[in-house]
Amino acid sequence: MAKEDTKKESEFDVAVIGAGPAGLMAAGTSASFGLKGSPVGLRPRVALIEKNSTLAKKLLLTGNGRCNLTNAEFNLRELASNYNNGEFLFHVFSVFGPERTIKFFEKLGVKIKIEKNKRVFPISNDAEEILEVLEKYLEENKVKVFLNSEIVDVVKKGKKITKIVLTDKEIIAKKYILCTGGKSYSITGSNGAGYVLAEKLGHTIVNPMPALSPIELKEDWIKNIQGISMENVRISVFSREAGSRHAGQNGKKQFSEEGEFIFTHFGISGPAVLNISGKVANLLKNGEVKICFDFFPLLNHEKLVKKIDDVLNKSSQQIIKNILTNFVPERLSEILLKIVGIEKEKIGNSISKIDREKIVKVFKNFEVTAKGVYSFDQALVTRGGISLKEIDHKTMKSKIIDNLFFAGEIIDVDGKSGGFNLQMCWSTGYVAGKSSADKNISK
Ligand SMILES: Cc1cc2nc3c(=O)[nH]c(=O)nc-3n(C[C@H](O)[C@H](O)[C@H](O)COP(=O)(O)OP(=O)(O)OC[C@H]3O[C@@H](n4cnc5c(N)ncnc54)[C@H](O)[C@@H]3O)c2cc1C
Repeated sequence: MAKEDTKKESEFDVAVIGAGPAGLMAAGTSASFGLKGSPVGLRPRVALIEKNSTLAKKLLLTGNGRCNLTNAEFNLRELASNYNNGEFLFHVFSVFGPERTIKFFEKLGVKIKIEKNKRVFPISNDAEEILEVLEKYLEENKVKVFLNSEIVDVVKKGKKITKIVLTDKEIIAKKYILCTGGKSYSITGSNGAGYVLAEKLGHTIVNPMPALSPIELKEDWIKNIQGISMENVRISVFSREAGSRHAGQNGKKQFSEEGEFIFTHFGISGPAVLNISGKVANLLKNGEVKICFDFFPLLNHEKLVKKIDDVLNKSSQQIIKNILTNFVPERLSEILLKIVGIEKEKIGNSISKIDREKIVKVFKNFEVTAKGVYSFDQALVTRGGISLKEIDHKTMKSKIIDNLFFAGEIIDVDGKSGGFNLQMCWSTGYVAGKSSADKNISK
């Protein structure tokens, strides 16, 4: 190969490291902008470098393969409240928030639907469709994709990166965007390597921890009710106050969350549980943590008693186990009756006032004990990452290295379940991509 051709193969205006959702958006966006000050039509030459043999492995797993690609929360303040460190995202959301994300994908040909809790999905219910349109977007913007290409080192001189080292070659770019994700679900490629590269460049890493993880429970009988899911429940978390002997509901109520959850063979999962898992992991460091479910948060004690009385009066000849299926699934009703010590075959008209009170109590205070929170293997996202103090929130540019930008989960922001994490990737990816194409931002 002639020397000039080799140079063409390894020298770029912008090199994007990591082809997850953030990297795809950053690379496509960067390449779609003309370099300011360049002759009209001259676009940045952009390289997208991915260690896997395919793009965006994790994106294909999102939303159980359906890809909950954003959340249709258009009030930016409300939107930001769904993130840990969400205030950092105000600017990127104002540039490229959920509304623009939906329009972006619609323009690429995706038909969009909005489901419960403002979760946005492609009508096809297929994450593959999202990846396909993004691949086309890269192609149209002439992004050069390197697969099976792992970045193993980064070389800097003064405040600039001079080159990145892959297993088989080196790449030189004027600017670099680091989008290597966090540490969760490392089978998809995100193993924390980006933190090591950033640390070498002088960045601080806020301790990465698993977030959005299922919670393991101490109660062994939980496996008997695996698969049961419930909606609109309130989950309250109690833990021991420092110096107190009491945990459980005698401890201090720490916080509550409402939504949907599911019993699994080892504990609990589902959106509401995933959302509390980060805080539960922290509380567990100080001792016992109790998790209390209110299955009927919209009914106060009196209203629930009345409802149970009405159902018991109507079904007075049935056994209580079956009567309670008017309220909860059958397998759960059996467990609840066992917990409160009521014989499951007891006939409705023999249920005493004391029994009714016990049933109401367990419906509104079903208590279990947290054993642990699942690790990075099962966590959907990582909490922690590149310190936000070292990133300019308007451009996503590093404050330490002049020609470096960040996007996606690698930064110290994480969102709740509901499309918020992908939205963060689209927003930061867009802004980092646009900034990297702007000659005035870093020369
Ligand atoms: C099972 C599951 C379901 C999810 N569902 C949803 C959902 O429905 N909605 C939602 O909003 N969020 C969801 N998330 C979270 C969301 O997928 C992530 O937040 C998102 O993928 C992060 O994107 P990213 O581009 O920052 O990083 P990643 O998607 O992790 O991509 C990083 C890429 O960088 C590559 N890479 C890493 N190191 C190197 C290196 N040294 N050299 C070259 N390449 C490298 C990796 O191989 C990887 O392809 C889910 C996560 C999981 C695990």
